Amino acid sequence: MSRRFLLLFSLLCAGLYAVVAGQPAPSAPAAGSLRWFKGNTHTHTLNSDGDSTPDEVVRWYRENRYNFVVLTDHNFLTDVTALNAVHGADEKFLVIKGEEVSSRFDSKPLHINGLDVSRRIEPLSGSSVADALQKNVDAIRAADGVPHINHPNFGWAITADELATVRNNRLFEIYNGHPRVNNLGGNGHPGLEEIWDTLLSRGVELYGIAVDDAHHFKRLGDLSSSRPGMGWVVVRAPRLEARAILAAMERGDFYASTGVELSDYRVADGTMTVSIDPVPTSGYRIRFIGKGGTVLEDVQGPTATYRIKGTEGYVRAKVIESNGKQAWMQPVMVGR
Ligand SMILES: [Zn+2]
Ligand SMILES: [Zn+2]
Repeated sequence: MSRRFLLLFSLLCAGLYAVVAGQPAPSAPAAGSLRWFKGNTHTHTLNSDGDSTPDEVVRWYRENRYNFVVLTDHNFLTDVTALNAVHGADEKFLVIKGEEVSSRFDSKPLHINGLDVSRRIEPLSGSSVADALQKNVDAIRAADGVPHINHPNFGWAITADELATVRNNRLFEIYNGHPRVNNLGGNGHPGLEEIWDTLLSRGVELYGIAVDDAHHFKRLGDLSSSRPGMGWVVVRAPRLEARAILAAMERGDFYASTGVELSDYRVADGTMTVSIDPVPTSGYRIRFIGKGGTVLEDVQGPTATYRIKGTEGYVRAKVIESNGKQAWMQPVMVGR
């Protein structure tokens, strides 16, 4: 987000969810002290099936102007103390520890990231997909971590019905940069965005994140590899510190992106406004979406405002750039 909008955004957005959703945002920080931080919450190193050392992976994100990265190897918790001593910088860059808790039910891979867990989690199995998901989410929470459910369509492992049963989980991947995770569905299975709308329509308040799930930092030109720089989140938080970042994400105070950068996003006085830092050679569509995935309004151009009626069930915004890049704002639940 460009600097000139920071103050405006901060002032206008303090009561974002409180105003529209009609409920308080109890742990929301005061306006005027908030900044945007770009980060990736899902990446691998040689500590599982990545091709590069933790130092090389962290260096890539630091040099590519991210503000934070979470190292999430399969069933392995990397100590990030020394990495932060080398690469960390106050309010500029932070390495957060994490683990991709990787279990399965039958042949279905069930992967849940535990962000900032206090200890390594042993993956748990269960009597069903939903049961195994819940047990691992509970284990992550018990270790003071923040869970996010990964690539539901990888191996067609997790359905909307199963996601809807999981308690104490707010985040799931609507975009994952790995080439074999079926973000868009297929084979009779819905895409992740359709799954998201199905869940939101049922009143299941989940926030959608975009991640790299990067494994290959030495094959950056190979489109069949899982490369960094594919998907990320931009989080609005009072400071660059693990707990502040994760709390903001669990409040839905972030957007997910595969390349679009916002200059302004606000929900106030019954309106939702989205503005983009436009690339001159690109065109943009801003789409406001409600219950059942209904397109409420579809606007061409780099800025749009939607007036919330109160009957939509939820409202979320999405930006589509003419080159295919996208950004997803988090839903605001209305009329409940
Ligand atoms: Zn995975
Ligand atoms: Zn992964």
